[in-house]
Amino acid sequence: MRKIKIYDTTLRDGSQGEGINYSLNDKIRIAEKLDDLGVHYIEGGWPGSNPKDAQFFKKMAGVNFKNSQIVAFGSTRRAQIKATDDKNLKDILKSKVKIATIFGKSWLLHIKNVLHTSPEENLDMIFDSVSFLVKKGLVVFYDAEHFFDGYKDNAKYALRSLITAEDAGANFLVLCDTNGGSLPLQIQQIINEIKPKLKVPLGIHCHNDSGLAVANSLFAVEAGCEMVQGTINGYGERCGNADLLPIIANLKLKMNLDSIPDQKIKNLTEVSYFVSEISNMRHMNNQPYVGDSAFAHKGGVHINAVMKEPYSYEHIAPETVGNKRRVLVSELGGKSGILILAKELKFDLTKDDPKTKKIHKLLQSLELKGYHFEAAEASFELLLKKALSKVSEFFKLESFRVVVNKESDKKINSEAIIKLKVKGKVEHTAAEGDGPVNALDNALRKALKDFYPTLSKMHLSDFKVRVLDEKSGTAARVRVFIQSQDEKDSWNTMGVSENIIEASWQALVDSIEYKLLKDKVS
Ligand SMILES: [Zn+2]
Repeated sequence: MRKIKIYDTTLRDGSQGEGINYSLNDKIRIAEKLDDLGVHYIEGGWPGSNPKDAQFFKKMAGVNFKNSQIVAFGSTRRAQIKATDDKNLKDILKSKVKIATIFGKSWLLHIKNVLHTSPEENLDMIFDSVSFLVKKGLVVFYDAEHFFDGYKDNAKYALRSLITAEDAGANFLVLCDTNGGSLPLQIQQIINEIKPKLKVPLGIHCHNDSGLAVANSLFAVEAGCEMVQGTINGYGERCGNADLLPIIANLKLKMNLDSIPDQKIKNLTEVSYFVSEISNMRHMNNQPYVGDSAFAHKGGVHINAVMKEPYSYEHIAPETVGNKRRVLVSELGGKSGILILAKELKFDLTKDDPKTKKIHKLLQSLELKGYHFEAAEASFELLLKKALSKVSEFFKLESFRVVVNKESDKKINSEAIIKLKVKGKVEHTAAEGDGPVNALDNALRKALKDFYPTLSKMHLSDFKVRVLDEKSGTAARVRVFIQSQDEKDSWNTMGVSENIIEASWQALVDSIEYKLLKDKVS
């Protein structure tokens, strides 16, 4: 069976994504996670371009990874100088890696208008740079930047650039759709044309500007590429890079091709959350395979069908990739929604059980008050667990007070004072925050942190307020939704009240209780 090499560039290309900025420690943690997942290559960065990357390689030099090899990235030498005098190539050697990826130009437009050099000099730059590193004992992957655009413009020259890298001793030729503008069939056709003319194995590196990075990568594999480059969650410049998570899943589950070890496929969802946490990016609900909504069922008909036969509305079993089925309960779902969720939570409940009727009635009355469980399944899960079993109380509120203070032209200031009973002790804390809800959240965590240390691993990722009865203005009920996230998961909770602080408090408490219950079980 063909084995496809997975080459991760989250730490280099991914870090180019808008809003992403990794510290040295972030990079190390992501590299460790990728090694555990079993990717073959981890591109650590560009030692010649920034000191943080150089430091990363210094740290990594002594580390023995279980599965992955660390790769340094760099460019071909500058025009009109010797490879031995090129700082970026020398910095790659200094980084002590065994593998380097060098990118060079294959598109005449770039050579003329961006590099301002001649096509012949560009070929010399490719040859000199690759052979310089090969002679120093490195394995060299050659990234042909803008290869497909270059090939469409001048096929002969683009191919020559690859042959030059091959002649210089490159171990892999990686075809890049740098602008992300190519279509799957074009990619496949071009690879079919060039592959017979090359001896060295081919890799693919796609960007997602046409929404096709994953499809293009898979078509390239079909056409014979043996390495796929991409990032976790598809992070990267502009519209991002090819998302390695659906690529790995599709290779194994749909194309029957091996990449990472089989037993690690179920870690894909966790890795996705982990990297989104460190990247400080909200996890995408609709992300294929690993998103919170990837296996969420809403309509009553769908829920009924899934209960009878999961494959009726699921392309794979969610657990295969470490995700879970979610039933979005609302009046739409009716009793069958309650039953399927109870089943998911391992409660034995039947349609005619008096408990089912009780919960259904409770749900209906809450929905009348403005609760909307469909988007807050963690609150619903808590409600169900409390109705069906004994959920131990993690803490009990005695009182809280929130003060918002504004003095003339000074900055507005919010402070919360909270009194709780936790494990038989009375905790009295105060905290400030950006606004009253944040102050309340801070004070609550401060009171609980010594008793429940895992709370430091979660944070609120979204906060939404909806006015339920617009006509009555400020006296109207509001519904507050909170989305929380930790390194493994995200969950949604809710509160409803005429007072926004009270509604937020309910949602906060549900969120924290859900997290504590989750940690206790796992
Ligand atoms: Zn790229």
